[in-house]
Amino acid sequence: MIKYILKCNNKHEFESWFSNSSEFEKLEKKKLIECIFCNSTKVKKSMMSPQISNFKKENKNTIDHKNYYKIKKDLINMRKFVEKNFEFVGDKLSSKVRDIYYDKSKKKNIYGTATTKEKEELKEEGIELSTIPWLDKDN
Ligand SMILES: [Zn+2]
Repeated sequence: MIKYILKCNNKHEFESWFSNSSEFEKLEKKKLIECIFCNSTKVKKSMMSPQISNFKKENKNTIDHKNYYKIKKDLINMRKFVEKNFEFVGDKLSSKVRDIYYDKSKKKNIYGTATTKEKEELKEEGIELSTIPWLDKDN
């Protein structure tokens, strides 16, 4: 996991975690990274500045709760969407993904779990998995 300080075109700064640096690039290209304050998708990696230079600026990195709940709601909606439109294959994900990848006739949406090793193996074969945050619906 890599933590980046991100900055939007309205100069909001916030922190976000990514599984690796290419994940950030991928999400950025698809405009899937939103500023947590103003929902701008023009988000860039901010230079990692020494902590002392932020000393006088107040609470820039704290998430305000309105946005926090909005994001959480969006993530829960995304989960519901996936559950409704994708077939759950559990830990068989990597083999099912291969089946679909190599046999185009079976094209369908699936979701499940894959280990980091499985993901790396798939990546070597040119198959990219998307990882989405999976929130509990009832909290
Ligand atoms: Zn912003």
